[in-house]
Amino acid sequence: MNDTQYDYDIAVIGAGSAGVRLARMAASKGARVVVFEKGALGGTCVNVGCVPKKLFVYAADVSEQLRIAHGYGWTIDSAQHNWSTMIKNKDQEINRLNSVYGRLLDRSGATTVHAHATITDPHTVSANGSRWTAKHIVVATGGWPVVPEIPGAELGITSNEVFHLEERPERVLIVGGGYIAVEFAGIFAGLGSQTIQVYRGPLFLRGFDRDIREGLAHEMRTRGVDLQFDTDVVRLERGADGSIEAHLNDGEIRVVDCVLFATGRSPNTLGLGLDALGVELDTLGRIPVNTHFQTVVPSIYALGDVSTRLQLTPVALAEAMRLLDHLFGQGTQQMSYDLVPTAVFSQPSIGTVGLTEAQARERLGEITVFLSSFRPMQLTMTDLVERTLMKLIVCTVTDKVVGLHMLGPHAGEITQGFAVAMKAGATKADFDRTIGIHPTAAEEFVTMRTPARH
Ligand code: FAD
Ligand code: NDP
Repeated sequence: MNDTQYDYDIAVIGAGSAGVRLARMAASKGARVVVFEKGALGGTCVNVGCVPKKLFVYAADVSEQLRIAHGYGWTIDSAQHNWSTMIKNKDQEINRLNSVYGRLLDRSGATTVHAHATITDPHTVSANGSRWTAKHIVVATGGWPVVPEIPGAELGITSNEVFHLEERPERVLIVGGGYIAVEFAGIFAGLGSQTIQVYRGPLFLRGFDRDIREGLAHEMRTRGVDLQFDTDVVRLERGADGSIEAHLNDGEIRVVDCVLFATGRSPNTLGLGLDALGVELDTLGRIPVNTHFQTVVPSIYALGDVSTRLQLTPVALAEAMRLLDHLFGQGTQQMSYDLVPTAVFSQPSIGTVGLTEAQARERLGEITVFLSSFRPMQLTMTDLVERTLMKLIVCTVTDKVVGLHMLGPHAGEITQGFAVAMKAGATKADFDRTIGIHPTAAEEFVTMRTPARH
């Protein structure tokens, strides 16, 4: 370490999930670290992603509790949600987290520069007219929302702005069928907005298990979300009363107060100076790297959303830890993208790890599918008819559980534990000899005995 030829051992561009983790861990190992951040510390996840989103999901969850309260003997005369209070409290929490991140970096000994950074040669970063040299440069600049190029697109907002809306829109139209679209459809519908979600394909959440996608579509419609598949927005216009007219490809016009584009994110590489250094982007705009996160320029690395194929915070953190090991540790740790568990915080939520039924059928041939659909116990004293869906996919030859999927309350919490078992190679027989915890929904995963199909 401490190559005195350079000002620093490592210069990290971007203080988001990946950048902060790498910078503070490297500094705490004795490396001389400088980290550049042009926005707020913590990046997407903390400021306009996972954290504020989950806080909004909690707000929407309260409305679910209010819906079932009556069945449990509660009388709630009037329940009103105050959007401004939620935003104010959320901002306070995010400010607190920004400070925590600042303190973590400072205490680790890393130097933080609040500026847009550009790489000017393989060992030099420039910002605010100054230059810093480093042995290694790590690009951890994340991603940015993409908006379709349609007339009037500027009338819509993205996930960057949705966290700062001054009022809750009474009528909202969400474009897209990925994580952000379904999560915000649940948030807005839960808080009382008339919610339309349009998705260009036949069924949203492409890549997830089909039973789960169909189940979520059914539950969202039951909760009042107007889901339009095989539909796209072709034009937005401002109405005379200030509303937005969304023209759809089937000729319909939907009049709303807000249009949210949740149509994917693209890697943040603008103004980094990569072109001049010969670092070409792949077809999705990502920075190509080898298994050690190294670009074609040996001293420049990239990790997190700017280069990864799984845009998730825990993946960005894991990549940072692998790179740390490569640069300053034993160099023995390899990043594995297999069996990465994930949750969609929709209403109801999804938890998933491993292969979908279609993927397993294609890759393994012989599989056994276990499926359970039931009314959650919490709803039994209410008139709600929502169902929880749990699904296990087992390789018939090895008996290994290769896919686990859930649609229902707390799906993310439940899936996390099972992901450990699957990572350890658990078989269906291991699931079967595990004693359940009663009464829970999770016990269903260890009590499924009759295959739904082979
Ligand atoms: P980022 O966190 O985006 O950090 C990059 C940083 O680099 C930013 O702070 C940016 O300002 C800075 N930067 C960019 N260019 C420069 C430059 N030239 N100079 C200086 N600084 C620069 N993931 C989950 O796992 N769970 C969730 O529930 C979840 N919810 C999400 C909800 C939303 C609405 C969104 C948008 C994303 C969500 N994600 C979630 C994804 C998660 O936020 C990202 O995968 C994660 O933040 C990626 O981390 P990163 O370090 O790669 O990039
Ligand atoms: P996604 O990639 O998940 O979804 C994008 C959606 O927009 C897809 O349904 C896509 O359709 C559709 N789309 C893309 N381009 C267009 C277009 N031009 N017109 C109409 N529709 C379009 O991206 P998100 O923006 O939802 O989220 C970005 C990433 O952030 C996620 O992939 C995820 O990795 C991460 N994230 C994670 C969360 C979590 O862990 N809970 C929550 C939120 C985000 P099609 O499928 O047909 O391509």
